[in-house]
Amino acid sequence: MSKTVRGRFAPSPSGRMHLGNVCCALLAYLAARSSGGEFILRMEDLDTGRCHPPYDRWILDDLAWLGLSWDEGPDCGGPCGPYTQSLCGELYAEAIRRLSERGLTYPCFCSRADLAAAQAPHLEDGTVRYDGRCSRLNEAARRQLAEKKRPALRLRVGAADVAFIDGLQGAQRSVLADSCGDFVLRRADGLAAYQLAVVVDDGRMGVTQVVRGRDLLASTARQLYLYRLLGYEPPAFFHIPLLVAPDGRRLSKREHDLDMGALRARFRRPEPLLGRIACLCGLIERPEPIGMEELIGLFRWDRIPQGDIIVNPERF
Ligand code: GLU
Repeated sequence: MSKTVRGRFAPSPSGRMHLGNVCCALLAYLAARSSGGEFILRMEDLDTGRCHPPYDRWILDDLAWLGLSWDEGPDCGGPCGPYTQSLCGELYAEAIRRLSERGLTYPCFCSRADLAAAQAPHLEDGTVRYDGRCSRLNEAARRQLAEKKRPALRLRVGAADVAFIDGLQGAQRSVLADSCGDFVLRRADGLAAYQLAVVVDDGRMGVTQVVRGRDLLASTARQLYLYRLLGYEPPAFFHIPLLVAPDGRRLSKREHDLDMGALRARFRRPEPLLGRIACLCGLIERPEPIGMEELIGLFRWDRIPQGDIIVNPERF
């Protein structure tokens, strides 16, 4: 018997959801529900500089207004809590301890300026490939540097070679030493890095299906390597297209006429908005109002495009 699908949506509460976030939430939800699966909501609020309290409540309210329901989440709890990353510090610390005990981590004292000056190639998601310089420091040098600066902690990637099939983007492969080098697990401010937190959470929550924006495709090999090291079973990944303006610029939270505040005011009811989004995503041919139950019945991955989706913000 196949395992129950467990899908999730993991927003960062750094602003009101915009059209791109809503597409992602909707496709993650339809993918889970159309196969009779469970759906989890998790708040990824680790970036304390960008995430602020009112937005987590707005996200819950906007998702409920759209007609999404979740079986587990920050508001209703569940067997795999906490569902808010800022409450999971001890779980991340424990995972880091397990990796460190195996000699897989080392402190890194490099500043952003050091990293930029190293002129390592930049990955498409803005990650700089780390050249491993702090792995070559001896104990005395580490002690001396630690007196002046709190280090970040990096994972040694060694010769890790990660291959996987993305459900939408097809076969992927990455030799981590070439693509990103040793990567950060804990930031210098003591917070768990996104790559570690997302794996610990998806792993411990038993998530079997991750649907998210294609901008995170490049992170997936690093995450799969962590799944392997931490002994979690990896989920299936589906990286969905990004929404771009007609000039190719990615639509972002700065486009206020496409945030949920503006969209709710304009569409007034969820069905017309769901119809527009479903049409953008290839699920229906004409942007006519549609209810969530009907959409669940229509969902199929082979209808979703791989490449960017062009949206004209003035005409949406
Ligand atoms: N919290 C991330 C974001 O809002 C998503 C992470 C993920 O889906 O893996 O961009």
